[in-house]
Amino acid sequence: MEKKRLKIALVAHDARKQELIDWCRFNMDTLLNHDMIATGTTSKLIKEMFMENDYPSEYIGGYDEMKRYYDYKVKSLLSGPLGGDQQIGAMIAQGEIDVLIFFCDNLAVQGHQNDIYGLTRLASLYNIAFATNRTTADMILTSPLFKDANYK
Ligand code: PGA
Repeated sequence: MEKKRLKIALVAHDARKQELIDWCRFNMDTLLNHDMIATGTTSKLIKEMFMENDYPSEYIGGYDEMKRYYDYKVKSLLSGPLGGDQQIGAMIAQGEIDVLIFFCDNLAVQGHQNDIYGLTRLASLYNIAFATNRTTADMILTSPLFKDANYK
C-alpha cells in the first residue's frame, strides 16, 4: 500500500500542554512518519521532548543535525495568542492541514478566544480530522483511514 504522509497541526493551551506532550511521546513513532506544524510554545515543547527521547547516536552530526531534523519535522508558527491559531486556520482553508489536534483549556476563557472560535469553525467547515481530547486523538491516529492513501 502506498504510504500516506499527512500534515498534522498541534496546539495546546498552557493547562493542557503536558497532556499533549505525553500524547506526542506515546505516539512519537507514528507522528514522525508525518509532517507536523504547531503554535510557538507547543512546537518548542514537542521538539524538546522528541529530542530527549531520540537516540543521539543516529545523528552523526550530533545535536545540531538532530535539531535541524526536528525543526524540519515540526514546523513552528507564531504563538497562539499572537496569531498562531489564525495561521493554522488559514492553512486549513488552503487545504494544507489534514488533522488538527487542539487540546484547549475548557475551564478558562483565553485572551485570543475569538481566534480559537475561528480555528475550530474552520476545522469543522473544511471537514478535517479534528480532536480536542486524547481519546479522539487516539482514535484518529489508530483509524484504518489514517493510513489509507486513497481516502479523500
Ligand atoms: P502556544 O499557543 O503554543 O504558543 O502556547 C497555543 C494557544 O494558546 O493557542
